[in-house]
Amino acid sequence: MDKKSILKRDLWMAKKRIAPYISHTPFVYSHRLSRLTGSEVYLKFENMQEIGAFKIRGAANKILSLTPEEQARGVSTFSTGNHGMAVACMAQKLGMNAIVCMSRHVPQVKVEMMKRWNPTILQEWDSQDAAGEYCYQMEKERGIIVIPPFDDKEIICGQATMAIEMLEDQPLLDTVLVPLSGGGLISGVALGMKLLSDQVKVVGISMERSAVMIESLKAGHPVELPEEPTLADSLLGGIGLDNQYTFDIVRDYVDETAQVSETEIADGMAYIMEEHKMIVEGASAVGVAYAMRPGMIEPGSRVGIVVTGRGVSMDTVEKILEERYRA
Ligand SMILES: *Cc1c(COP(=O)(O)O)cnc(C)c1O
Repeated sequence: MDKKSILKRDLWMAKKRIAPYISHTPFVYSHRLSRLTGSEVYLKFENMQEIGAFKIRGAANKILSLTPEEQARGVSTFSTGNHGMAVACMAQKLGMNAIVCMSRHVPQVKVEMMKRWNPTILQEWDSQDAAGEYCYQMEKERGIIVIPPFDDKEIICGQATMAIEMLEDQPLLDTVLVPLSGGGLISGVALGMKLLSDQVKVVGISMERSAVMIESLKAGHPVELPEEPTLADSLLGGIGLDNQYTFDIVRDYVDETAQVSETEIADGMAYIMEEHKMIVEGASAVGVAYAMRPGMIEPGSRVGIVVTGRGVSMDTVEKILEERYRA
């Protein structure tokens, strides 16, 4: 475990490297939530990145830190979600080949979305696990590098650039609330806050169901859990039983974790729609959901909440609004 080798300079290098490919997203004062909590609340709108999520930061930093020779061999991924889009998008921008391996059961809308960035799409497997195995086989046999979604130093440093931006915009932050799944995002944000500021409290938030990192922390080692349906679908997935970075970093640098219910997630999404007129996915709203719970935010403090992405179907949004506004 060489997390100690993640240094301030790695974060600044990541920032410089990825600057041409990402947006410094707005960090916006949220009036109603600030009033509700008696504090200053700012939302970091990563849903405004070109691909609709923060994952472009990590993917860009990882791909740009490959040698030219490695880049020429191309990259692969088996994520069909925001990470997959980030890899495909970066590869297209750099004129590299990206191979996205998918199960046959991936819905057509997701396949179409991926086609925007013209990756090579292989859809020959009955499960995502089998698609993933094929990626690692290509890496072994043909040197096509798999870009991992979270458990990687360069991915973590890429996500950490978000912490730099938040501190540039609001240097006096006391607390940050960060969605938590595999932990690449929160590892980056926590390292950024601890290395570049003073005593910022970092809180990781997952859904109630299938919160693999939180259960792993309780167990003292990485565990596996079955996936259950949730509005925060981007937070599903394991952390890897042979996790190298994020489990240790989350255990050592994240101050607290919490879990929010499906109703709270829907309320968080509705808040962002009503107050900020933006449509975001469930995984994005867990921080707001937590802050809306009475007593969670220290009055008079400055709080940053990461809103991670916008990958949600209009059907889901319609259902949430219908339930709220049914007369
Ligand atoms: C990937 C993702 C997360 C969680 O990030 P991890 O690094 O896996 O913890 C949260 N929100 C969205 C929208 C994501 O795509």
